[in-house]
Amino acid sequence: MKERIPINSLRYSELEGFLIDMGEPAYKAGQIFKWLSLGVSSFDEMTNVSKALRARLEERFYIEQAHMIYRQESRIDGTIKYLFAMEDGNSIETVLMKYKHGNSVCISTQAGCKMGCVFCASFEKGATRNLTAGEILLQVIMAQKDSGERISNIVLMGTGEPLDNYDNVMAFLDIISDERGVNIGQRHISLSTCGLVPRIYDLAKQKRQITLSISLHAPNNDLRSRLMPVNKRYHIEELIKACRDYFAATGRRISFEYAMIAGVNDTKACAFELAGLLKGFNCHVNLIPLNHVEGSPLKPSTREDLQSFQKVLEDRHITTTVRRRLGSDIDASCGQLRRRVMLGGQRENAGVDNKRRGDITKE
Ligand code: SAH
Repeated sequence: MKERIPINSLRYSELEGFLIDMGEPAYKAGQIFKWLSLGVSSFDEMTNVSKALRARLEERFYIEQAHMIYRQESRIDGTIKYLFAMEDGNSIETVLMKYKHGNSVCISTQAGCKMGCVFCASFEKGATRNLTAGEILLQVIMAQKDSGERISNIVLMGTGEPLDNYDNVMAFLDIISDERGVNIGQRHISLSTCGLVPRIYDLAKQKRQITLSISLHAPNNDLRSRLMPVNKRYHIEELIKACRDYFAATGRRISFEYAMIAGVNDTKACAFELAGLLKGFNCHVNLIPLNHVEGSPLKPSTREDLQSFQKVLEDRHITTTVRRRLGSDIDASCGQLRRRVMLGGQRENAGVDNKRRGDITKE
């Protein structure tokens, strides 16, 4: 027997192609795709699909599933944090944030991350794997189902590097924005990357309407390479050039993320250097007070340092925002929950990483 295909990872056109191959009418794809967008977990729930076809689907395909194993809701702002277990026992973290302008969900694209940014909680787990398009999609569907509220925005800023899982993330973008399914427009989706330059060029060619966010975090190679190993592969000049080319190709303004780390990248000198780097570029800078990672010596910048950094940029006509922290009482930020659950007994590993973090503050 042929290996079964995960049906919720298929684009509409792909699903239609399979059905036509099976001798079924093309319109059946519409019914099935709709059911999948509602998060059904078995073919038998597809009540307007004939029993005979349901049995045939069961033979060729399977429906990927994620099980909620943890749910925590902030009493301060209603942020909800989920931990989902996948079929292979790996877990992924998803966060639902409530804003005045609508609900936003922060989703993961990989289980674990290989990139090794020192300030991030996600990298400590060695084993990583790409999530399928269906598993990425399920996070949105499950959060929507659980909260009973419509999700209007998606940020690909959970665990993992989206451009390191390029094909599945592109399939996800096509499926989620398809009006015959979940139907969240690409203008309401942000993709954040640590800067895999060749993939930024690939993405530019697709001319998608998504917002591209770049995790910059430093204004020069020396500092950025210490914070983000990926910078040793793709230098900052190359990255900024790719961003300028991306904007020229798509007309979509890029957003730079900059986590403010006390005494490391938050000096006025850094602000001047950053302003120089981004000079004349129609972009946006998002300043994020560093989220504390358990046991790490890295600290967030003080409010004063943050404000004077921001002023240097604003004075040079670079638009900035300071990101508001949500879910602080439930520790919703950046990979913390998965880390706690997955690490379990692996405290020694955490010790090594915290030493690496300590070295940053000394240099
Ligand atoms: N791999 C992608 C997306 C995941 S991280 C990327 O690098 O962009 C999402 C964002 O959170 C990135 O900008 C990342 O640099 C930032 N981030 C990670 N750890 C953080 C921390 N402790 N405090 C603040 N921001 C953090």
